[in-house]
Amino acid sequence: MFGQQHVKKQLTAYAHGELSAAQSARVAAHLGACERCRSAFAEIAHGIRLLESLTPRVAPANLWDDIEAALAQEASPQAKQTERPARRAARENNVRRGGRRGGWSLGNLRPGRVIGWRPALAASLVLLFVLGAGGASWFHLRSTRASWEVARLQGAPSIDADRMGSTGRLAIGEWLETDANSRAQIKVADIGQVEVDPGTRIRLVETRLTEHRLELARGRMHATIFAPPRLFFVDTPSAVAADLGCAYTLEVDDAGHSVLHVTAGWVAFETKDRESVVPAGAACLTRPGVGPGTPFFEDASELFLDSLAKFDFAGGGVDALGAVIDEARPRDTLTLWHLLARVEGDERLRVYERLAALAPPPAGVTRDGIMRLDPAMLREWKAQMEATWLT
Ligand SMILES: [Zn+2]
Repeated sequence: MFGQQHVKKQLTAYAHGELSAAQSARVAAHLGACERCRSAFAEIAHGIRLLESLTPRVAPANLWDDIEAALAQEASPQAKQTERPARRAARENNVRRGGRRGGWSLGNLRPGRVIGWRPALAASLVLLFVLGAGGASWFHLRSTRASWEVARLQGAPSIDADRMGSTGRLAIGEWLETDANSRAQIKVADIGQVEVDPGTRIRLVETRLTEHRLELARGRMHATIFAPPRLFFVDTPSAVAADLGCAYTLEVDDAGHSVLHVTAGWVAFETKDRESVVPAGAACLTRPGVGPGTPFFEDASELFLDSLAKFDFAGGGVDALGAVIDEARPRDTLTLWHLLARVEGDERLRVYERLAALAPPPAGVTRDGIMRLDPAMLREWKAQMEATWLT
């Protein structure tokens, strides 16, 4: 379905949004399925984030002016000695505060005021070289995405309690609300869209190059995202849905219980200490106080699904786990793989043995390694099983 071709050569263009929607979708699907290309992409994304943090508010042309002037100054040996102590202290203080919120800009990089900029500047030069002209579009986007376009699909949705017209804009911090008879569509920067069903409360939390984030307090939304993994997030009351290049439906009820159904690609449903990775065709529940449950394919047997819900959220313990293990089909190794890290001792061994019977581990992945949750072995085994999950 995804083809066997790796996509490393397309990743930079992909990160810059320079591919067609169809090409982006292909790359996103491949990234979901291929660990190697995903890690290559992670490096590119890291470079972009670094670049973004170095150059928060200034156009690239100014950056080059500053770099040239700073380099010229660097060539002159008197430059360093002319920095007065007070200025130097102010500059160091500024750098300590760091980042966007501290409000530093490239003004701080002007010659004579900064001498500690060299490693950072070298990094930015390398990044500009690597990213080429595409870097410019990333700078530009930053300042033009403080709000998202919203279209009314039906009824009378409101933005921050004001009834909206046929279109509107949702700014950071604002709530979009639909009553029982209204629906709306949100354009997620230029990376996709979210359809908002009736009876939903949803807020724009953040939108910048490396992070677009909504909060779903109640109701249901359908997301379709063509973007690099981990760029689009939705907070729910008990877990965060992190897009890995995908389409999905997310629903939150009045008790704060959520369910995630993935229809294309991958989504990670996560809290600080627990992550469920959910491929197309699978779902995952989450509960306040518990976090994300174990992901499962929705076409599993009824006994499997009931037992898993009991195990995850109703103290079902060993009995429920036993039924999950007995009922598992080859595809349900998705669930068993996640369970390895969620049980211990004899129970982990039972999960391991069933998993090994359904999907024999590749060479180098040992029982002892899995029993002590060796991260590399867990990843390698999962990579092999993904073929079964994605068909
Ligand atoms: Zn690949």
